[in-house]
Order: sequence, then structure tokens, then C-alpha cells
Amino acid sequence: MHQLEKSDLQLLSQSLCGVARVFGARQWCLATSGNFSVRIDKNSLLITQSGKDKSELAPDDLMRCDLDGTPADATLRPSAETALHACLYRRDAAIGAVFHTHSVSSTLLSRAAGTSVEFSGYEMQKALAGFESHENRVTLTVFDNSQDLPELAKRVQARLAKASCPAPGFLIRGHGLYAWGKDIAEARRHTEGLEFLLSCLWQARLAGLQ
Ligand SMILES: [Zn+2]
Repeated sequence: MHQLEKSDLQLLSQSLCGVARVFGARQWCLATSGNFSVRIDKNSLLITQSGKDKSELAPDDLMRCDLDGTPADATLRPSAETALHACLYRRDAAIGAVFHTHSVSSTLLSRAAGTSVEFSGYEMQKALAGFESHENRVTLTVFDNSQDLPELAKRVQARLAKASCPAPGFLIRGHGLYAWGKDIAEARRHTEGLEFLLSCLWQARLAGLQ
């Protein structure tokens, strides 16, 4: 990928912050939780700094890291979960943006689930690239949570490498959702689609429906 011009970088920053503010307003990343990143080129990414309020996110709240998660500016502290973002970009060169939310539905459903959450019969499944019918089955893997992020990243990488047709996301138990796409627009669509599906599943469970 060619080196991005400064103006391209500004557009990427503004676009990423716009999505973060929308997701923040939906209460998907309260209390400075969640993190958002976009690929700059084959060696680096732009990611939210630690502890920033996503509902007010501005370009100065972002920072550059390499694909091992090492900050370009050592005086800035990246999100605690940078290792997970970096491992996704390393694993798949087609991934251009990664969003991580801490919604109520993803937190509760991942606590109640075994090793995966499945959706079928929902029209919204078609929001996910590669899923063309409500009759397809979408499987979201659930990983046990850990504060050892490099260790969690290793488990994620190993599991995703085995999946033949994975959904563009996964859950971490009692924690939240990761979703990605080829660019910011697709990652946004995937995150919104998966959050909608998780919310449907949780509300159906509360109502005693299946
Ligand atoms: Zn998190």
C-alpha cells in the first residue's frame, strides 16, 4: 500500500472519530471503554489512546502504532487492547479497520454462552460480508476474558486461523464485541449488524422466545 498523504491521514482520523462518537452516543462504550483503530499502511495503524471518552473522541485522541502494537510516540499510551487489534491486522492484510464495543447485550450474552453464539433466520445477517441469506448460520466465537492481552491475542489468532468461514467478529466473555472490515465503513456496518443481532438474541431470551 502506498504511503498515505497527510490529508488522507486526517480524513481517516476524522472518519474514525465520527464512528466512535456515534457508537459512544449509543452507549456501546461507556466509561472510556472500547477502542477503535484503522490501518494506515502495511506496517502501521491508528488507534485510540487509553482512557479517552469515545462519545467526545477527537483526532488528537488517536495515536500511531506498528503492527506489533509498539507506539510511534513513546510518550503516548495506546489502548490496553492494542495487542488484539494488531494481531488482527497481522493475520489478515484485507482488514482495514477494527472496532471494539462494550455493549450490555454483548457483555451479558457472552457470559451466558458456551464457546460460541449463533444466529440464524435474521435478515440482519446480510449486513455481514459473505452472508447472503437469513438462512446462513452466523457463528461468533466466544473467548474467555483475560487481562494478559498478548496471551488472549495468541488464542484469538490460533482460533481464527482454523475457522473456514468466520463471521467478521468475536466476543470476549463478560467483556464485549470485536468486529472488523476492509475499511471504516464496512467495519461500522459489521459492528452495527452484530450489535443488532446480539440485542435481538438477548431480548428474545428475556421474552422467553427463541
Ligand atoms: Zn475491552
